[in-house]
Amino acid sequence: VGLPELLFGDISGRAANPALVDGSSGRTLSYGELAAMVDKVAAALAARGVAKGDVVGIFSPNTPFYAVAFHGILRAGAAATTVNSLYTADELASQLRDSGATRLFTISAFLDRAEAAAKAEGVRVSEIVVMDGAEGHPSLADLLATDAAPPDVVINAETDLAVLPYSSGTTGRAKGVMLTHRNLVANILQVQQLIDVGEHTRVLAMLPFFHIYGMQVTMNAALYAGAAVVTMPKFELPEFLRVVSEHRTDRVYIAPPVAVALAKHPIVDSYDLSPMKVLFSGAAPLDEELAAAVRARLGCTIRQGYGMTEMSPVSHMIPDDRDDISIGTVGVIIPNMECKLVDPGTGEEVGEGVPGELWCKGPNVMAGYLNNRDATDATLDTDGFLHTGDVAVIDADGVVSIVDRVKELIKYKGYQVPPAELEALLLTHPLIADAAVIGVRDSEGEEVPKAFVVRQQAAELDAAAVMAFVAEKVAPYKKVRVVEFLDAIPKSASGKILRKDLRAREN
Ligand code: ATP
Ligand code: MG
Repeated sequence: VGLPELLFGDISGRAANPALVDGSSGRTLSYGELAAMVDKVAAALAARGVAKGDVVGIFSPNTPFYAVAFHGILRAGAAATTVNSLYTADELASQLRDSGATRLFTISAFLDRAEAAAKAEGVRVSEIVVMDGAEGHPSLADLLATDAAPPDVVINAETDLAVLPYSSGTTGRAKGVMLTHRNLVANILQVQQLIDVGEHTRVLAMLPFFHIYGMQVTMNAALYAGAAVVTMPKFELPEFLRVVSEHRTDRVYIAPPVAVALAKHPIVDSYDLSPMKVLFSGAAPLDEELAAAVRARLGCTIRQGYGMTEMSPVSHMIPDDRDDISIGTVGVIIPNMECKLVDPGTGEEVGEGVPGELWCKGPNVMAGYLNNRDATDATLDTDGFLHTGDVAVIDADGVVSIVDRVKELIKYKGYQVPPAELEALLLTHPLIADAAVIGVRDSEGEEVPKAFVVRQQAAELDAAAVMAFVAEKVAPYKKVRVVEFLDAIPKSASGKILRKDLRAREN
């Protein structure tokens, strides 16, 4: 089946239940309304000539109407390319050009960037739908007013592209990832077996829908299960806390920076967060101690998962019912996937407890990178394994811990130092609000760990104290040897530390 059929094929039992709730206005779309709107948008797009093989862009923060546009595009047989809301007009133009999008959905607040990008050289966008309305452009209401019938498209799940999301661009230029209907459907079904999400669940959708984690785990898996999805346009701590407490969301998906705030920020205590039963973290390393601090403070269950855009996205997670698995790990491989840990130098599998590159295979693994044969060949091998670029270890019970990215390991005098480990350690310091670590060259040309540290407000803390704190707790080769204080750590919209931006500051 294709994704629209999986999600909206039979909703008769839940047509009146809430599907999407706007966390700010409270405006709600029921499953029945959502499915009817998706059909209308598909009909309107088809009437405008959008068909199988076409690509349509979405450039919008999370709202209930994001889901309407997204599923309307897929229902019309086209693929959606979802764009980072923080992108400049140039970055937007480059994704529209690369993906070949011919139409774009946006909101009035983003219209300046959308119009500038649509005019850029090589961009084929012929129409911008401004969902909330703007002079001179069709609105979502205009599309919904169509009297055309929904198109009769037959989706070939195996080969038809459903989405063209772009990787986060953490390590370099963001890459377009070709995901088929089968890829998306597979991952939803794989994950659903491990989580207790159903019509009783209220999910908080603060993570952006444009990123694969928000798109698949927060939005699509929840809609498949019949849950209510409460949207937030961006992360701001007080608003996040208000929405959790007022909308009583019992399942909250986050990336680690939110866990840092939940562990450390004083205002957290002024909200009733008791509705939140499960806090699920993914997208970047979550430290066990930090996670335990959040659990102690809020009394919720914490779970962690691992994935990447190229795997639609999940390959590992701690199932809801596995309290025995440490929250500092990413849990076990999901059903219907295979993985192995390999020495990237020799291609040989490594043993239990030995770090190796994680390779994964399964129905959720991408068809390839868009317009990038070389990157595809370097990532997907002839046996169908995706080389994740992440270093991991596996224990005797099959529980996997992510060490760090292969490329980010700092090579100090022949030893390998994972920056993520030092970042986690730094965060345990009460006067440190946030931290990031990269390798820099010292005066002898040796690569050494350098820490960027954000102090807690009004905290007195100097470089020597930071270095001494780390030195006390790690093997000598892992010591932090340079410290710089910053006001904020650069992070991507998907919650990852942008170490490449920190490296750029060094030159
Ligand atoms: P790009 O590929 O463009 O450099 P990216 O890899 O950050 O960006 P995504 O696909 O959003 O783009 O992220 C996947 C990566 O996120 C993984 O390869 C891994 O490094 C990291 N990651 C995801 N989940 C976890 C986790 N639970 N623990 C540690 N790292 C994680
Ligand atoms: Mg990547």
